[in-house]
Amino acid sequence: MPQKLIILDRDGVINYDSDQFIKSPDEWKPIPGSLEAIARLNQWGWRVVVASNQSGVGRGLFGMDTLNAINEKMVKSLAQVGGRLDAIFFCPHSADSTCDCRKPKPGLFLQIAERFNANLDRVPVVGDSLRDLQAGVAVGCKPYLVLTGKGMKTRDDPALPEGTLIYPDLAALVADLTA
Ligand SMILES: [Mg+2]
Ligand SMILES: [Zn+2]
Repeated sequence: MPQKLIILDRDGVINYDSDQFIKSPDEWKPIPGSLEAIARLNQWGWRVVVASNQSGVGRGLFGMDTLNAINEKMVKSLAQVGGRLDAIFFCPHSADSTCDCRKPKPGLFLQIAERFNANLDRVPVVGDSLRDLQAGVAVGCKPYLVLTGKGMKTRDDPALPEGTLIYPDLAALVADLTA
């Protein structure tokens, strides 16, 4: 059995995405059912970790204090429905950076594996963009695409990893995982 650990992208999976970046707590708005889905995972014994590219920091669109405030809003909103995240990992670097943590590079996933002393083999990775899934697949994760956020566009990408499972949204995916 793979461990009960699941890795979620943030924007477009937990909250609505924006091409203009989510750059203030006000702009962070949960996708209906996503917070309750995370709480349900918790109840079923899953550890839930977020891995997110936040290049708005590297581009100077918002600072670390703002990113922390946005994540704090997510954590508090989640707590209101009885849910919690075990950790939030993010890459703050810009798209042209040569860092090893910006997805599709697997750096964030390697950090997660180290922090949780976990083997990520077949651990579910949930994303709405190709790079979320590619980063996970690179370390053995099982890819799940949700059709929220950029998911509809991603579904038609010929580079979609083989065996990717597709769900309308996080709530539907979690209903299946906890059935
Ligand atoms: Mg996304
Ligand atoms: Zn990075």
